[in-house]
Amino acid sequence: MAEERLDPWGTVEVKDYDRLRRVFGIRPFAEVIPKIREAGLPPSLHMRRGIIFGHRDFDKVIVEGYMKGEKIAIITGFMPSGRFHFGHKLTADQLIYMQRVFGAKVFIALADAEAYAVRRLPRREIIRLGIEEYVANLIALGLDPDKTDFYFQTNRGTPYYRLIQLFSGKVTAAEMEAIYGDLTPSKVVASLTQAADILHPELDEYGGYKRVVVPVGADQDPHIRLTRDLCERLRGVVHLERPAATYHKLIRGLDGAKMSSSRPDYTIFLTDPPDVAVRKFMRALTGGRATAEEQRRLGGEPEKCTVYDLYLYHLVPDDNELARIYRDCRSGTMLCGECKRMGAERLKAFLEEHQARLEEAREIARSVVEPPSF
Ligand code: SF4
Repeated sequence: MAEERLDPWGTVEVKDYDRLRRVFGIRPFAEVIPKIREAGLPPSLHMRRGIIFGHRDFDKVIVEGYMKGEKIAIITGFMPSGRFHFGHKLTADQLIYMQRVFGAKVFIALADAEAYAVRRLPRREIIRLGIEEYVANLIALGLDPDKTDFYFQTNRGTPYYRLIQLFSGKVTAAEMEAIYGDLTPSKVVASLTQAADILHPELDEYGGYKRVVVPVGADQDPHIRLTRDLCERLRGVVHLERPAATYHKLIRGLDGAKMSSSRPDYTIFLTDPPDVAVRKFMRALTGGRATAEEQRRLGGEPEKCTVYDLYLYHLVPDDNELARIYRDCRSGTMLCGECKRMGAERLKAFLEEHQARLEEAREIARSVVEPPSF
């Protein structure tokens, strides 16, 4: 167990989230939901549906902080190396929820240094993607730019870079390897930079937020563990509180493997023309049976279905309606053709509305984030 590792840069397929939670000491998110309700706040769709399945200190750091009226921040990063897709939207929805419900200040790192080092993309393209794809789509989805601090990593300034320098003196190569496995110099720098992304909102220069939460996919836990350790090790040098984290399940691509910009046939992008997105959707892997007769007799298997994933994560916000789809699938009352046609209508409507907002969002995006000069 002890030598099990997650690779934040690799292709992780998690089959058993409860086991992963236990191996890495992540607490179940279900224990926090009553506390959120006690604070008078509604849990989000992704919390209610178990998509956010785990946490570290969300109750102690964030819910208690909210109850005491303290300032809360949520920080995440996007590597601008491809187009914005429904996997990114899952993180965006969490940012928007925290901004609207907990009143959190949002920090968004555009990981241009990492995209350059790890993905080897040209700098100009990285900067263009950061603004036109990531910032613009986040704003079009409803993130309030007035309560968000968007930045490119290479532009962030001296106190942020000072943290990276301090962190580099507090870890050994052996410890980094124990957390991440094989490491290149660029991945070492990327890891320490991500720790600075998470912790720099705590510095006075960036707002002095001591209640910070990081929403991550299950595969990103190594960054969280490293960052929380670094807080302890810098005691006496700089006062940094350990951040909280929430962990979400990874939405699958339309073939059942990982959703990724590098697999465009199996990934729906928020800028796909609606007819293109619908064609991909209609070819998606379902949990249907070999024949209609068999499906009526045995029912479908929504747990195996990538169409159902899209309903669960994104396209069916009403819990009662989702429960009806699940029942009708399981009982064999509804077949996949009918189900997909209903989903295709929703997908098309969502994309049309979203894309109608994109042009204005791109204008705003260009004005709220400063591009690096090289
Ligand atoms: S009926 Fe719908 S939810 Fe069930 S397996 Fe088919 S496409 Fe998936």
